[in-house]
Amino acid sequence: MDEELNPFKNAQKQIDRCADVLNLDEATRAFLREPMRTLIVSIPVRMDNGSFRVFTGFRVQYNDALGPTKGGIRWHPEENLDTVKALAAWMTWKCALLDLPYGGGKGGVVCDPKKMSTGEKERLARAYVRALGGFLGPLKDIPAPDVYTDPQIMSWMMDEYSAIAGYNVPEVITGKLHITGGSKGREDATARGGMFVLREAAKHLGFSLKVEEERLYKPPKELSSLPDVLTKSGDAVTVAIQGYGNAGSLAHLLATRLFRNVRVIAVSDSRGGVLNEDGLPYTKVKRVKDETGSVINYGSSKKISNEEVLELPVDILIPAALENQITKRNADRIKARIVLELANGPTTPEADEILHRKKVFVVPDFLANAGGVTVSYFEWVQNLSRYYWDYEEVYRRLDAKMTKAFWEVVEALKEFKDKDIDPRTAAYVVAVRRVVEAMKARGWV
Ligand code: GLU
Repeated sequence: MDEELNPFKNAQKQIDRCADVLNLDEATRAFLREPMRTLIVSIPVRMDNGSFRVFTGFRVQYNDALGPTKGGIRWHPEENLDTVKALAAWMTWKCALLDLPYGGGKGGVVCDPKKMSTGEKERLARAYVRALGGFLGPLKDIPAPDVYTDPQIMSWMMDEYSAIAGYNVPEVITGKLHITGGSKGREDATARGGMFVLREAAKHLGFSLKVEEERLYKPPKELSSLPDVLTKSGDAVTVAIQGYGNAGSLAHLLATRLFRNVRVIAVSDSRGGVLNEDGLPYTKVKRVKDETGSVINYGSSKKISNEEVLELPVDILIPAALENQITKRNADRIKARIVLELANGPTTPEADEILHRKKVFVVPDFLANAGGVTVSYFEWVQNLSRYYWDYEEVYRRLDAKMTKAFWEVVEALKEFKDKDIDPRTAAYVVAVRRVVEAMKARGWV
């Protein structure tokens, strides 16, 4: 693998950069650079044709100084330990930045869920929980959905864990189906949190996003039933979105419903992208995606590649797919003013330097996409208390958390102005300080 594209090496580079800014001692640095605990498991699963297949699974508990480890489980054919380690590190900084009482963790299984039946997926979900055994737990390590896993998979996992425990334990996992203890608002929490941060970033950078205040805390169903209005005016804020999974598609919905002057002109998924300068209507694009499996089949548009989506002359670029999309090879061609990272790890450290030089404001992943884990935290709190909140309460609290974190990052930018740090390093400063303070208070370093 090209060195620039190793996510864990990149996560370590980011930590090193922050450790230099904060002048951390050697032992503290050493502990922050590696995961606390790593588990690799072999998971036998009976397939529909009667044969057995053995899947490889991972769970990394990166750092639990601030609380039990928290983070999603990815199912991806190219999953590997270095990616999971990086994602677990990023969860640590994400939870710390949002001031959640959690450490960071992540899991993964090497598999291609697009080629598996529902029954095979259920058996894999249950077998993963059994394989991890005593590693998981509501006060130990709490998984959630991530790339190619969903609320149904979370509900199966919760059920398996509960069956082993002998009683209902909804708080062992978040992002579940609502009927099994999932929180209202968890489904679009990543995209919604991103929109709250985007609103603040626009304020900070002095360009106008016209907020539809009365819609801010409305559930996605209500918002998607509103008609598509394509902003006509020449001064519309233009947006391109790479990735049309949970985060990307809901970002399309929310950006066009929560802001009056936003025009989404390009979207893409793993098969390619579509562009229409006059705007892409969410309802129609989503229907095409659901019915045909890809946004590229949406007619009234020009077909473009995934790489081209990134390089469009838009105001806001939203990478919402996988890691390593903006690298030293294309960073110079990024024209957006704001990059809102809904994906984890879309920008490499080399690309970060180039974007910073070009004065592109990157809202780093562990701030931009922290809405997901923040509502996961709310779900866990609701599960533990067995008392459930309505949409408005969830979204209001999410807004408060995201907004506070954003301005703390701006404060850190100001504090280290002489070192000319970028927003990602500033976010690291806020998060790592919290983790280090807890490590020191516990007597670890
Ligand atoms: N997988 C999501 C993330 O990367 C959510 C994690 C969670 O809810 O625990 O932040």
